[in-house]
Amino acid sequence: MAPHRIAIVGYGSAGQAAALLLGRDGHAVTVYERVARPGPVGAGFLLQPSGLQVLWKMGLLEPVLRHGARVDRLFGDTPCGRAVMDMRYAGLESRLYGVGLQRGALFSILEAAWPDRRRALQAGHDIVSVDPERGVLRDALGGEHGPYDLVVVADGAASRLRDAVAAPRIDRPYPWGALWCLLPAGEWPWLAELRQRYVAARRMIGLLPVGSCPGDATRRLSFFWSLRTDAFEAWEGQGLAAWQDELQRLWPEAAGVFAGITDAGQLARARYRDTTVRHWHRGRVVLLGDAAHSMSPQLGQGVNMALMDAHALARSLQGEASLPEALAAYQRERRAHVWIYQLWSRWLTPLFQSEQDVAAKLRDAALLPLGRMPGGRGQMLRVLTGTRRGLFGTLGLEDGFIDALEQPMPAAGCIAATEQARA
Ligand SMILES: Cc1cc2nc3c(=O)[nH]c(=O)nc-3n(C[C@H](O)[C@H](O)[C@H](O)COP(=O)(O)OP(=O)(O)OC[C@H]3O[C@@H](n4cnc5c(N)ncnc54)[C@H](O)[C@@H]3O)c2cc1C
Repeated sequence: MAPHRIAIVGYGSAGQAAALLLGRDGHAVTVYERVARPGPVGAGFLLQPSGLQVLWKMGLLEPVLRHGARVDRLFGDTPCGRAVMDMRYAGLESRLYGVGLQRGALFSILEAAWPDRRRALQAGHDIVSVDPERGVLRDALGGEHGPYDLVVVADGAASRLRDAVAAPRIDRPYPWGALWCLLPAGEWPWLAELRQRYVAARRMIGLLPVGSCPGDATRRLSFFWSLRTDAFEAWEGQGLAAWQDELQRLWPEAAGVFAGITDAGQLARARYRDTTVRHWHRGRVVLLGDAAHSMSPQLGQGVNMALMDAHALARSLQGEASLPEALAAYQRERRAHVWIYQLWSRWLTPLFQSEQDVAAKLRDAALLPLGRMPGGRGQMLRVLTGTRRGLFGTLGLEDGFIDALEQPMPAAGCIAATEQARA
């Protein structure tokens, strides 16, 4: 297809990956981002084989592995030492693993790889409406931008532009969210495992190794504390000391890590939504990332889905004869993959974040045995790795990608080239 003039709204993971891939295909890309100085928000995340494969196709696996932390196992238990969850990537394929990464690291890696960013990134533009027929954007100050052949809406879970495509079928905030931040790993012994601790579904603490970041070689953990969003203020009001006592009582082995939290301001507040749309495109507008399919982070899939969306959109634009055909092909491919994860997140989230004590008891009794049954283990690992497609289908991982995963993990350090490119 001939090169297009493309506007992308939002410079999160979805917008960044789309800008890079569409720019590489020769399209004239402009990105509009609300924030004046774009940067990562939050702490870290787990990249699954599904998302890592996209980064491999983009030629970015090496810096990701260099900075990230290899994660082989997901383990969760209660304060009295009862194991509740124990999943190993090797249970699916001996060479597979996940990678914990700081948000800042992925942001820098994607930004450094996009050569047009200085010219094509329009920061400080809050886009408030889009005209799907004309491909024209309007910002909060009344400025008009366009017309564009295609507008990619990647403005996240709380998208204000989604309605220009279609009213969502489901769109509701989860009552529970999280506080999260990065902490130095120090002497933490579980550097290849996501570790979680649960008290029924009322308390959940997570520690995910996320490696280092360009410009800062300190190895860090992404800390997660589950909390009702209507309790954020009360949490801050109670003061740090009482909360630190609770943390240390629930997870004494992690006391050294928790000591890194000295100020409530270190913790970002995360809210999430469950949003499903029937139509992902209309006229010249298409949805990407959380704007198309936000879900709770329980399955750790959002960034991976955003990367896959960007890759699928670029490929559809390469392969189809017309824009409507390309957008329809993109929607077909991505919806067929995403829906099962949204369904699982909807069901699983209350088992980990709610006041439902009976459901949590069932979780404690059933999750571990289920994960040990051959059928159950395969199903759970396919969902974890992002390689489930539909109820029984699988998403293929290429041999070249698996071979690349097998290369020895490069030592964490600074990416001088990345830093230079940002300077
Ligand atoms: C606590 C937590 C843990 C998570 N853990 C994981 C994990 O382990 N693995 C994983 O894969 N995913 C995880 N996720 C999910 C993941 O963070 C999201 O799915 C992903 O960041 C979505 O990327 P996005 O680019 O679609 O949206 P966002 O990252 O939200 O980016 C949207 C961008 O659009 C900009 N924007 C918004 N409105 C406008 C506007 N009107 N005009 C211009 N710009 C605008 C925003 O400023 C932002 O830069 C987690 C999420 C949370 C909250």
